[in-house]
Amino acid sequence: MDIIVQKFGGTSVATEELRKKVASKVVATKEAGKSPIVVVSAIGRRGDNYATDTLVNMATSVYDGDNARDLDIIMSVGEIISSVILSNTIKSMGYKSQAVTGFQAGIITDNHFGDADVLKVDNKYLMDLLNKGIIPVVAGFQGVTEAGEITTLGRGGSDTTAAILGEALHAECVEIYTDVDGVMTADPRVVKKAKVIEEIDYEEIYQMADEGAKVVHPRAVAVAKRSNIPMKVKNTLSDSKGTIIIQKNHYLRKARKSLEEENMIRAIAHKSNISQISVFFDDNMEDNDILMNNLTKFQVSIDLINFFTDKKVFTVDNKDLNKVKNILEENKFKYSIIKNCSKVTAIGHKIRGIPGVMGKIVRALSHSGINILQSSDSYTTISCLIKEEHIEKAVNALHAEFNLDK
Ligand code: ADP
Ligand code: ASP
Ligand code: MG
Repeated sequence: MDIIVQKFGGTSVATEELRKKVASKVVATKEAGKSPIVVVSAIGRRGDNYATDTLVNMATSVYDGDNARDLDIIMSVGEIISSVILSNTIKSMGYKSQAVTGFQAGIITDNHFGDADVLKVDNKYLMDLLNKGIIPVVAGFQGVTEAGEITTLGRGGSDTTAAILGEALHAECVEIYTDVDGVMTADPRVVKKAKVIEEIDYEEIYQMADEGAKVVHPRAVAVAKRSNIPMKVKNTLSDSKGTIIIQKNHYLRKARKSLEEENMIRAIAHKSNISQISVFFDDNMEDNDILMNNLTKFQVSIDLINFFTDKKVFTVDNKDLNKVKNILEENKFKYSIIKNCSKVTAIGHKIRGIPGVMGKIVRALSHSGINILQSSDSYTTISCLIKEEHIEKAVNALHAEFNLDK
């Protein structure tokens, strides 16, 4: 059986007209002799009646305390509604279809509410439907623990559902349908000249997604890579070719000697809502332990970490800022905070150590009047922390500097 997983994001199923378009793509796949498994997100975006943010607001406007378990129950409803409506749309076109919850699809997770990991998938229920010629429409973003608690897979997690089902049912491909033409050289909402990348390696798109390019969830990419299933990112509204994500072999090639040999920067990603924290103490084991143990205890994940002899500098997501302040106050640390920061990242392959890459980044940012607050690099990325007010200018400047506009 040639199984294809087709995932449609919230904006792709936002109106009846769009749902008919989606249904006709699914039906065309069926008519081509394939067995589609559809995965859907909650209908619409922030502000729409059944969108995830709306459901969260309904619950948190009544009580905003420690509530992760119950929030997962209400959040899972958005995708369930969407699966029934889309399944009915497919049925109205004369095809057999059935809405399926994450629980029914056999998606078993750990109990990390709000950001659960999938432990295993029992594919029997979906295989039975496919064997009967029925098109399953699975509610994305959700699973269930062994103990029967409903969980969600982290914001944007319907992509993960699609990849997990692709792996569990040995699909030939996982298709992610969204509201842009594919994976692009930067967020097209920020860079008007952003171009579609026709073919990209799992590792590169993973880094892009992890550094803020939300077009596909990093965990979904990791699963697709693990199972070596090609993933395509396409526009629901057009027939453009989109992007194919596959294993490329350029990591096996020799490291290049210069930046000019090939345009090795593939994309610029960015994320905002970051704060930079500096904690002032002279290096000593006790203070280091207090700081690090508390950050771990309160599950604060830190990034861009630089430890100097007289101060420790790192960044956190703004959502964790209050937790960090409490830790620093309670332990009487001296500290300073720069709020409203953003991180801009250039992604490529084998860029570390290539002469000129960092130079180009510094030049492009300083010519645009942007100060770099901190920087970091890895084998495939170079990131700079800047003030949030400069992010649009920064992404566009780096996009142009690395010739991605052309
Ligand atoms: P969906 O609801 O379909 O899952 P998302 O909003 O999660 O859609 O992801 C699609 C959005 O990702 C696009 O509208 C675009 O603004 C944003 N995006 C950010 N970076 C990129 C990029 N490099 N390429 C394409 N889209 C990007
Ligand atoms: N509806 C969920 C969210 O908004 C999951 C998703 O869209 O993938 O995060
Ligand atoms: Mg998404």
